[in-house]
Amino acid sequence: MKKLEVGQIRKDFPILTRSVHGKPLIYLDNGATLQKPRAVLDALEQFYTHSNANVHRGVHFLSQVATEAYESVRMKVCRFIGTEDSSEIIFTKGTTDALNLLASSLGDWKIQPGDVIAVTRMEHHANFVPWQQLAKRKGADFRIIELDPDLRISESSLEEILALRPKVVALSLMSNVSGVITPAASIIARAKAAGAIVVADAAQAIAHQPIRISELGGVDFIAFSAHKIGGPTGVGVLWGKASLLNAMPPYQFGGDMISQVGDTETTWNTLPWKFEAGTPNFADVVGLGAAIDYLERLGMKAIQAYESELTKYTLAALNRVPGLKIFGPRNTESRGGVFSFALEGVHPHDLATFLDVQGIAVRAGHHCAQPLLKRIQQAATTRASLSFYNTEAEVDALTGALLQAQKYFSKKQEGPARVNNPPS
Ligand code: PLP
Repeated sequence: MKKLEVGQIRKDFPILTRSVHGKPLIYLDNGATLQKPRAVLDALEQFYTHSNANVHRGVHFLSQVATEAYESVRMKVCRFIGTEDSSEIIFTKGTTDALNLLASSLGDWKIQPGDVIAVTRMEHHANFVPWQQLAKRKGADFRIIELDPDLRISESSLEEILALRPKVVALSLMSNVSGVITPAASIIARAKAAGAIVVADAAQAIAHQPIRISELGGVDFIAFSAHKIGGPTGVGVLWGKASLLNAMPPYQFGGDMISQVGDTETTWNTLPWKFEAGTPNFADVVGLGAAIDYLERLGMKAIQAYESELTKYTLAALNRVPGLKIFGPRNTESRGGVFSFALEGVHPHDLATFLDVQGIAVRAGHHCAQPLLKRIQQAATTRASLSFYNTEAEVDALTGALLQAQKYFSKKQEGPARVNNPPS
C-alpha cells in the first residue's frame, strides 16, 4: 500500500492555503463537511461550461452527454462501496434525505402497529428522528440500543433489543460525536439473524475507511453524503438491495419516476429512477464522481492507515492537556479521528471561538446528536474532526491553543476579559 504524501495532497485543496483572522487556516471540522479538491471544483466548472443539459429528456447531443456523465457515476459509486448492480444506487439530496426516504417508504410497506424499530443512542438526528416519527405514525415500538461507558454499543442492551425481534435496526458505522467505529459486520449479522432489515448510516465512515457492502454482515441499506468525501453539497447516495427497493412504494411523485401516467392510475419506472422524482442534481452527481475518483487515486486503505496514525497522535496529545475531558474512547481501539471534548470551566462555544481566533476551525454544539449528548450529560461539546490532509503540526497547534485557552479562561474567571479578544 502506498503512503500518503500529505504535503502534496494539501496542494490539491485551494482553501487550505487561506488564512483566517490573520492566521493560517487549520481546518478541523471535517466531520461537518470535507474541503473540496481542485479535481472536484474543476469537474463542476467543466460540466457547467461544456456539458450542461437536463438528463433523460432530450435526444439532442448535450442531453445525451449530460445523461452519460450522470449515469456513469452510478458505476463509480458501485466500485467505491464494493457492489455491482448500479440499479441499486439511488441518488438523493444527502444522507438525511436517504434516511427519510427509507423511513417513509420502507416504513409504509413494512411497519405494523406494535412492531419494534431499533436505533442506537449514538445516532445523528438524521438516523434517529425519521425512525422515531415513523414509530409514532404507525403505533410501533421505538427502542434505543444503549451505549457502554466508552460510548460503544452496549452488548447487553443490544442482546435485549434483538431478543424483541425488531423489524428494522438503524445504526451508524461511525459516530460523529465520539468517533466510535461500530463493529458493523458482527452486529449487522446478528440483527439480520434476529429478522431485522438493517440500515447503516455511513455518513461519517465513508470518508475514513474502505466500505465494502459484502463485508457488512448482510446489510440491507447504506446511506451517505457526497459533501463528506470532498464532493458537492446537495447530493447523496442510498444503496439498497434491489429486492427491497422493488417492493417498496415510491417516496416522491413526479417526473422521471413514472412509467405510464393515466387519468386515474400511474405505474412506476424501474430502479433506480423509481426513487428519483424530478430533475436530479446531475451536475453535483458529476462532482461526486470526481470526488470518488480523487479518493480512489489516494486509496481508501492509505487514507485509513494515515488517519489511524494521526488519530493515535491526537489522542496522546489531547490526553496530555490537563482538565480536558474527552467523550468517548480514550484509546485508539475502534475509534476514528473525531474528538468531542470539554475543557473544565469553559463553555464549549467560548472554547470554539477562542480556537477560531487562532485560525483553528472546530465545531461546538450538540452535533445533531442530542440523545447521545443527554447520555453524557452535556448540552454541547467542542469537536475537532480530522481528515487525511491534516498534519501532526496542526494537531500540535490545536493542543497548544487548548493550553493557552486554559490559562486565558482561568485568568478571565479572576477578572473581566473578552473571549473574542484573546491573546494571539
Ligand atoms: N449521519 C451522520 C453520522 C452524520 O455525521 C451526518 C452529518 O453530519 C448525517 C448523518 C447527516 O448528513 P447530511 O447532513 O449530509 O444529510
